[in-house]
Amino acid sequence: MKKSTHNTLLPTSTAGSLPKPLWIAQPKTLWSPWKLQDKALAVGKQDALRLSLLDQQQAGIDIVSDGEQTRQHFVTTFIEHLNGVDFKRRETVKIRDRYEASVPTVVGPVSRQKPVFVEDAKFLRQQTDKPIKWALPGPMTMIDTLYDDHYKSREKLAWEFAKILNQEAKELEAAGVDIIQFDEPAFNVFFDEVNDWGIACLEHAIEGLKCETAVHICYGYGIQANTDWKKTLGTDWRQYEKVFPKLQKSNIDIISLECHNSHVPMELLELIRGKKVMVGAIDVANNNVETPEEVAATLREALKYVDADKLYPCTNCGMTPLASEIANGKLAALSAGAEIVRNEIK
Ligand SMILES: [Zn+2]
Repeated sequence: MKKSTHNTLLPTSTAGSLPKPLWIAQPKTLWSPWKLQDKALAVGKQDALRLSLLDQQQAGIDIVSDGEQTRQHFVTTFIEHLNGVDFKRRETVKIRDRYEASVPTVVGPVSRQKPVFVEDAKFLRQQTDKPIKWALPGPMTMIDTLYDDHYKSREKLAWEFAKILNQEAKELEAAGVDIIQFDEPAFNVFFDEVNDWGIACLEHAIEGLKCETAVHICYGYGIQANTDWKKTLGTDWRQYEKVFPKLQKSNIDIISLECHNSHVPMELLELIRGKKVMVGAIDVANNNVETPEEVAATLREALKYVDADKLYPCTNCGMTPLASEIANGKLAALSAGAEIVRNEIK
């Protein structure tokens, strides 16, 4: 039996990244270069992490994170620390079948030289007694941001990344992380591969872990390429339907989803009944701060398909592209909305 992370009903959390302070990186920008170097950067990252934690705690978030303050990007920063990937050799590929990007090349066997985020996780653990969640990229999303000139097989490369992620996850668990989350937006695109080997790779990545595990599957950050793609999906987004049956049977504890303002029919959640669900009740693709009542309405709808003790109110995705005052407003709305519903079901 895995230990439960907390006793609060409807514990709130965020899907991942939060805005960076303007003294360390350009606000509202993905992949922003650091404004500091060397020792100043190391100290600056820790200060940014503490500020992000403070923002979450002031907003009343129950399961806190580092806000991804120490990484430039949720996938690339992890890969930068691995052997076998040449960042100078670049090829143009289509990421998630959606937009072209110049990406690094896999030139040899991939391996982890040393722990990537473990020291950051220890630092976060020292700062708070609250349950902490740590995000890692998922194997399928990792391979989708690279050009592979070595394995020549998406499945083989994903399997190798799963082994590396498992090493990192075990050390994060030892550092005191309560929930380890794998970000797999690619699960919303490559359905056949997800069912053939994607979920198996993910289960390999969590093998032997005693802490809780989560997979985050969304429709992406609120950037133009994603907004344009969403317009092509019609009024009924049934992508989740293709992967939910197999995910329901998997060993993953928690499934993190985009639900608010999206066209995902809420009844699809019935397909993962029994799993804990991080219900995205905050839209990260606009600057309107939700009212607590709007958040509550989304949670009430989800409660028809998710048992109350398994519902974790969350954001749809990361908020790094938003201004910090907007993101903080949204976090406060998430807490207040969860509190409304908590009082209704007590
Ligand atoms: Zn996301």
